[in-house]
Amino acid sequence: MPSDASDSGLTPLALKLRRAIAERGPIPLHDYMAACLYDPEHGYYRKRNPLGRGGDFITAPEISQVFGELIGLWAAQVWMQMGQPRRVRLIELGPGRGTLMADALRAARVVPGFLQGTAVHLVESSEMLRETQKATLARSPVSVQWHDDLTQVPEGPAIVIANEFLDCLPVRQFVFDGAAKAWRERTVTFSDGDFRLARSADAAQPPLTAVSHGAPQDGDILEHCPGIAPLVATFAARSADAPLAALVIDYGYTKPAFGETLQAVRHHKFAGRFDAPGQTDLTAHVDFALLAHVAQDAGFDVFGPLTMGEWLLRLGVEARANQLLARASAEEARAIAQSIARLVDPAQMGTLFKVLSWTRGISDPPPPFGVQG
Ligand code: SAH
Repeated sequence: MPSDASDSGLTPLALKLRRAIAERGPIPLHDYMAACLYDPEHGYYRKRNPLGRGGDFITAPEISQVFGELIGLWAAQVWMQMGQPRRVRLIELGPGRGTLMADALRAARVVPGFLQGTAVHLVESSEMLRETQKATLARSPVSVQWHDDLTQVPEGPAIVIANEFLDCLPVRQFVFDGAAKAWRERTVTFSDGDFRLARSADAAQPPLTAVSHGAPQDGDILEHCPGIAPLVATFAARSADAPLAALVIDYGYTKPAFGETLQAVRHHKFAGRFDAPGQTDLTAHVDFALLAHVAQDAGFDVFGPLTMGEWLLRLGVEARANQLLARASAEEARAIAQSIARLVDPAQMGTLFKVLSWTRGISDPPPPFGVQG
């Protein structure tokens, strides 16, 4: 398509989506989000480096090394609870810059035998982040392999970690039409130079959710992440013959209600959902009630959700921070205290973020659920 004055300011992905809408009509919001994140040429999680000061957002492992260290010790403890299998796959979904895994492996060295049989498997969609992960883990004490998908990770006992991964899974949205007493799917169309929200002409049936939302009123929105069930099914399939423990950490909610949580972030600030498609992070808060429900339904023992602040405190974040503080300068000590507070403080990340674990083939609850909190 030849470009004209109206193309100015549109990203390459916006032009591609505009063309698709012109040819085939409005697209479901879910498909818009999926294209923004995963379009093979222009998707946000294909081409960009989202993390850190020069990127769009910062995550817990980038805030404090203690986060990954505690997860490393968590993994080693779970391995012991599995009966110390000779080989275990330590799998991370969406490993970002590889920081969490590097910190986890360093901390886990203190547990005799754990790393000898451990192979790391990283599931990562972004070529650029894979390069960063390779550099971060260049001196990893264990082998590291990359995969496009969890289904490609070889079988065997597995410990799976996912921090800020599930929020990337595209969501569908439904809007209640009070006059017609029917749900309609939210779609995206293009008019007057920009993308706009629209509704499907046909009634749509939202998938079942974990809890009843009550009777909808006109305009109520129901958000649903269709990626959760297949992901948990993959966990279930691989744990049919081997123990598995999963640890999921993300921003999310435990009591689903009508409303939407889809958010756009660019350069550390909230942005419009249609701003610079492919160059803006689009995510949704994770429905932890649904996640727990689906995991339970698949036969897993489910633990949590706990708030991340509570989870970190119960795992001993303060003791580890004190070790670091003991050998820090006054300036370093301030920075350490600030970063721990950022993770734990309810007014910062401590309450917004939740932690959920599920296991199969393990006798005891994973830490910190086995100990009295
Ligand atoms: N866990 C990291 C990064 C979080 S950002 C941290 O805490 O710092 C989300 C990560 O998931 C990125 O590495 C992104 O490229 C990856 N990702 C997003 N969607 C993905 C998908 N569908 N498959 C594989 N990796 C994905």
